[in-house]
Amino acid sequence: MKRLRIKKSYFQDIAKGRIQILFDEAKKRFSSRPELSNRYVQLARRIAMKYKVKIPSELKKRFCKHCHHYLVPSKNCRVRIRNRKLVYYCIHCRNYMRFPYSKSKTLKYS
Ligand SMILES: [Zn+2]
Repeated sequence: MKRLRIKKSYFQDIAKGRIQILFDEAKKRFSSRPELSNRYVQLARRIAMKYKVKIPSELKKRFCKHCHHYLVPSKNCRVRIRNRKLVYYCIHCRNYMRFPYSKSKTLKYS
């Protein structure tokens, strides 16, 4: 019997939705149970790797790329602008993450 084939993009759309939900939950739970939000980041990363989905850039800034801890500015991470880059400092593993930061992008939001 032939198996019914479902398109890869169908699963990728579901994966994207689930990653978004996990990050929303992580945000809600951070104040009460921070270890749970770290677990949600771990699950979201696993889903992204399994279905080969990119985690959007705005969500990439919400967890540490070294220790995969959920980051909240002023709570467990420090955000600075240095040499036209956004520099995130993780207080847990004491590592830096750098993101490009250009003036043209900021004008769009303001
Ligand atoms: Zn870290």
